Amino acid sequence: MDKANKEHEALAEIRRRVDAAAREAGRDPESVTLVAVSKTFDAAEIEPVIAAGQRVFGENRVQEAAGKWPALREATPGMTLHLIGPLQSNKASQAVELFDAIHTVDRDKIAAAIAKEIASQGRSPELFVQVNTGEEPQKAGIAPRETADFVRRCRDEHGLEISGLMCIPPVEEAPAPHFARLAKLAGELGLKKLSMGMSADFETAIALGATHVRVGSAIFGSRPRP
Ligand SMILES: *Cc1c(COP(=O)(O)O)cnc(C)c1O
Repeated sequence: MDKANKEHEALAEIRRRVDAAAREAGRDPESVTLVAVSKTFDAAEIEPVIAAGQRVFGENRVQEAAGKWPALREATPGMTLHLIGPLQSNKASQAVELFDAIHTVDRDKIAAAIAKEIASQGRSPELFVQVNTGEEPQKAGIAPRETADFVRRCRDEHGLEISGLMCIPPVEEAPAPHFARLAKLAGELGLKKLSMGMSADFETAIALGATHVRVGSAIFGSRPRP
């Protein structure tokens, strides 16, 4: 069976739900970007989703994305690739080369490394600051109370334009208060974009203002446990 010539049912269903959630919230569905998170899936599994019209994808590892995306991008113009996983400064060069958006700026060392690469490559991915809204010690992201200062330093000291904020709520908590907290912070800082919401909670995120929802398993199926 040639999957590539068929509608991708899971993708179509998520698109419908994204649009419905936006309308329900009195928002234009166009104001919500669906980022299809293709981490752990190989090109053969991504191609049917591209064939069904999806053009915006997310990956959480620079190395993995570098392995599969150059060929996929070559095959289909107009693709947008988002880095949604933690970035190490020694991968900043590759990240700026490969990605159109980076959602995980969360410390000065990374901001400085990205700024250096933007200057030398003449390529400017859209940038989001990741906020650790649950203040979980093991989780990436800047603490909420440090966010305003960090965003200011990104602009004033590193010369970076920050478009918005991103969060990953704690798995064992209701996500809505975290989304609301991120939206409030962004509003206070005059940032327009909000990357929040995954397979289990993207409709809640859209109701609270998400402009980018990152949906993986609901489109691609479940991933093997790491
Ligand atoms: C994997 C991942 C997602 C997608 O998660 P699903 O539950 O599969 O939709 C979203 N955001 C980040 C940061 C991720 O690492």
